[in-house]
Amino acid sequence: MVAEQLVKRGIRDPRVIAAMEKVPRHLFLPEPMRDRSYDDRPCPIGCGQTISQPYMVAFMTELLAIQSTDKVLEIGTGSGYQTAVLAELARSVYSIERIGELSHRAEEVLTELGYRNVTLKVGDGSEGWFEEAPFDAILVAASAPLLPEPLLLQLKEGGRFVIPVGDLRQQKLILVCREKGRSIAREAARCIFVPLIGSHGWRDGEVSSDDDGEGFPLS
Ligand code: SAM
Repeated sequence: MVAEQLVKRGIRDPRVIAAMEKVPRHLFLPEPMRDRSYDDRPCPIGCGQTISQPYMVAFMTELLAIQSTDKVLEIGTGSGYQTAVLAELARSVYSIERIGELSHRAEEVLTELGYRNVTLKVGDGSEGWFEEAPFDAILVAASAPLLPEPLLLQLKEGGRFVIPVGDLRQQKLILVCREKGRSIAREAARCIFVPLIGSHGWRDGEVSSDDDGEGFPLS
C-alpha cells in the first residue's frame, strides 16, 4: 500500500510514510471488510460512513506538516484510522465524531493499540472543541459547504487547517494557513467526501441517503 499507492503518487514526508507503515489499517475495518483493508479506495465502516482512501489520509496528513509538539483537532473520527496516523506524529489529538457507535468502536481499537495521546468525543465537530482550543493543526474528514467559522477561530497563529469544501457531489480540498493574523487558503486537490453534518456544515435534512460514498481525489 505505502509503496504503490502513496510513494508512487508523491507522498514524500518520511514521518508520514513511517506512520502509514506502522498503523495496522485492517484493525479499523469491520471484520467482514478486512480483506479490503489495503485497497486503493475508501471502504464502508457502517452507519453509512467510510474509512478514507489510504492516499487521502496520507495526503491530508502531509499537507498539515504535523510536528511532534503539535496539538491537533480532527473532525470525523470515523473508524479512528486517521486519528491513529495523526497520533503517531503529534503530541496530542482531539477527535470529534457525531455518530456515537463509530466513536465508541474507534475508541476500543485505539485503546487496544495503546494510543494514550488521543481524546475522543461525540458531538458536532463543525463547532470545534472550544475548551481545548487553540490547535496547531485541524483536519476535517467530511465536506462542508463553506469554511466553518468556529474552526478558523480555533486555529493557532502558524496553524494549518485542511478541509473539503464544495457541494454534496464534489469538493476542493482546501489548505488554510494562519499567518500574521491572516488566513491564507489554497486549493490542494479535488475530492469527494461524505458530508459534514452540523450547525456549520450541512443540515441533516439537506443530505440524502445516497450521499455517503467518498471517492478519489480527481487530481
Ligand atoms: N478519517 C476517517 C477514518 O479514517 O475512518 C473517516 C472519516 S469519514 C470519511 C467522515 C466522518 O465524519 C463520518 O464518520 C461522519 O459521521 C463524521 N461527521 C460528519 N459530520 C460530522 C460532524 N459535524 N461532527 C463530527 N463528525 C462528523
